[in-house]
Amino acid sequence: MSKKVIVGATGAVAAVGVAIGWRASKRYPNGDGDRKAQKRAPLLVEGVNAERFVEALCEAITFPTVVLDDGTYETDVFDRFASMLVRRYPRISAELEREVFNQHGLLFTWEGTDPDLDPIVLMAHHDVVPVEKGTEEDWIAPPFGGTVVDGKIYGRGALDCKGPLIAIFEAIEYLLERDASPERTVYVVSGHDEEIGGRNGAQVIAHELRTRGVTPWFVVDEGGAVVDGVLRGVSAPVALVGIAEKGFVNLKLTAHGEGGHSSVPPHGTAILTLASAIVALEANPVPARIDAIRPMLTALSDHLPGVVGALASRPAAAASLLSRVFARDVLMDALQRTTMVPTIIEGGVKANVLPQSASVVVNLRIIPGDTSETVVDHVRSVIGESVDTEILPDFVREPSEFSRIDSDAWETLTGVIDEMFPSAIVAPWVLVGATDSWFFESFSRDVYRFSPFVLDEEGRGGYHGTNEFVREDGAGRAVSFFVRLIVVAAGTGDVLSGSS
Ligand SMILES: [Zn+2]
Repeated sequence: MSKKVIVGATGAVAAVGVAIGWRASKRYPNGDGDRKAQKRAPLLVEGVNAERFVEALCEAITFPTVVLDDGTYETDVFDRFASMLVRRYPRISAELEREVFNQHGLLFTWEGTDPDLDPIVLMAHHDVVPVEKGTEEDWIAPPFGGTVVDGKIYGRGALDCKGPLIAIFEAIEYLLERDASPERTVYVVSGHDEEIGGRNGAQVIAHELRTRGVTPWFVVDEGGAVVDGVLRGVSAPVALVGIAEKGFVNLKLTAHGEGGHSSVPPHGTAILTLASAIVALEANPVPARIDAIRPMLTALSDHLPGVVGALASRPAAAASLLSRVFARDVLMDALQRTTMVPTIIEGGVKANVLPQSASVVVNLRIIPGDTSETVVDHVRSVIGESVDTEILPDFVREPSEFSRIDSDAWETLTGVIDEMFPSAIVAPWVLVGATDSWFFESFSRDVYRFSPFVLDEEGRGGYHGTNEFVREDGAGRAVSFFVRLIVVAAGTGDVLSGSS
């Protein structure tokens, strides 16, 4: 990967790279290195226009690019969103190739000068989840207003995923304004239906790239962030980088019973049978897989309190004990096992009529190591024959593979994270949700999930919820992150070789 200086007819960007310097720094800080890290300031890229990011994100939020579960959305809103990108980013519009898939899925290609180098793929998505009816008034600022209140940019999509998308665009525009041209091709993928599975957007784009023979060096998508005060007992901020993601399957469980008048109830009814099955599932979780969180524990072991820290440093030996400790924390438990939770329940039409059937949809999130088949078997073995189990079609995804944490791609990404978030501990994790990057798993060895924003407990609550926001003062860092990532990964081979 050591190549001549990459970026820039003018050399301006290369100069930025040199000025910033490449820190061949700790990936897993230990005591001493960590204290030093606390004192370092983020290496922001000079000339990055944070104000323009804020303006662009505010405007991006004003387009309610909502997709509904039934796949419907307002096409003209997506058209106007795409036009906004063209208007705001004249250099990108003029110099990158733009392809549109299924009307609203976007693929941008910034051709590299060296066709022998594998490209990098930067991903986001521009659809958003709806705002739950009746909660609009709970927002500090209107969810599609795109306003800044007390230093926070509020709006649906601020974090998920227009913030990251605008940061990528600002970074590329910044580099183009300095006449940069990368050696390695940079693809930007922004799907329009990520929130409902990505089948018409990212899946189609990924398939197209694969058909063209593209083999990305690495992919970076949403699905991790710098969390602060979110992991219990860890006081330092933690840059969670997704190296895998859970799969999912929806099951519909249906119980049957005698109909009739409610005045002489039988011993078992459809609702009672169903309720027993739900309670049985709660009492019999899918067995934990401590392996899935071992890389994270190793990274955090120096920072976890007391006994847990000691155990975490030897997760293999202490597996069952750790597993029981983590079971008490909902987040840690979700990171170590396939979860199951009832989400939709139906049964009965009238207060004095016994329903002949009652059903529940159970949403399972499958940890790598399990498969849809093994977890459905588990459910069947727990609830027995008295309840029908049906896999809902169109909503099954196997968990991803693990991307590497000892590869050049990992070193490159985490090196830039370390530049921008020097006080954060980098920890690999398994994403509990799903992202569009899953579609790249089959043809890119390393798929990482990380957005360059700091997320505290308050910020986490806004994810798909009320008062989604990103902090205004994080703008410069977010854009700098992508500038540096592109400079280092797609650009300056010399810099890379100096770090390893
Ligand atoms: Zn998202």
